[in-house]
Parts: sequence; structure tokens; C-alpha cells
Amino acid sequence: MQNKKAIYKKIWFCFVVVFITFFTNFVSGNTGIQDAQQTVIAKSTKVVKSNAKKAVTEKVTVKRRKAARKRKLAAKRKQKKQKGAAKRNVRKVYIAPNSGRRYHFNPSCRGLRRAHGNITKMSLKRAINQGYTLCKWED
Ligand SMILES: [Zn+2]
Repeated sequence: MQNKKAIYKKIWFCFVVVFITFFTNFVSGNTGIQDAQQTVIAKSTKVVKSNAKKAVTEKVTVKRRKAARKRKLAAKRKQKKQKGAAKRNVRKVYIAPNSGRRYHFNPSCRGLRRAHGNITKMSLKRAINQGYTLCKWED
């Protein structure tokens, strides 16, 4: 009888140990899952955050690039304008001071026929300053 009681005690002990191990495993497993979930959530929020950051930086770089392109275009346009103005200023025109108030880019223009060779060459700027307007044939 005493032997049997000892065996029962041992079985009980084993059962309790198994139960405790199982229980602690279960609890720790649960927390493990929660931890994993939390890390997943943290990771995803991190990814979302980094994506948002990326988007913002991309937007900023696009904006910057656009601004740079605009500036470049403006500079080019300005240069062109200046070049055009310079060209216009040095461009020579032909006028017939005795027979008309028009200036001509083409010295053999039909608008200059009436001048009969009495043609003066001058800069476009000067012609405009003197009140000459562009010949109607060369519009
Ligand atoms: Zn003309």
C-alpha cells in the first residue's frame, strides 16, 4: 500500500509539473505572439512612415527640379531676349528719307523703288527713334 501511495504521489507530481510547464508555455507563447504582432505593427508603421518620408522627399526633389528647370528656362529666355534685343539694336535697316516714313530690312524692297536710289542705311533703333515704321511689304 505504501508503495502504491508513493507512485500516485509521483504521478500527481508529474501531472502538476506537466500542467505548469504547459501553462507557462501557453502564456509565454501568447505573449510571444503579441510581441510578434507588436513588432509587425511597429515595422509596418515604420514602413508607412518611411514611405511618407520618401514621398515627401520625392515631392521636394521634384519641386526643386521643377524650380531649377524654370529658373534655367527663364535664364535662357532672358538670354534670348537680350540677344534678340542686341541683334535688333545692331540690325541695319534702309530708309528713304525723302519719299517715305518706312524702314526696310531689304534694300531692294519694292517699297523703296520710289526712293530712286536715295536710300539711307541706319540702325533699326535709330530708325524707330526717328519715327519710321516697318514697311508694309515686310510685315
Ligand atoms: Zn520694304
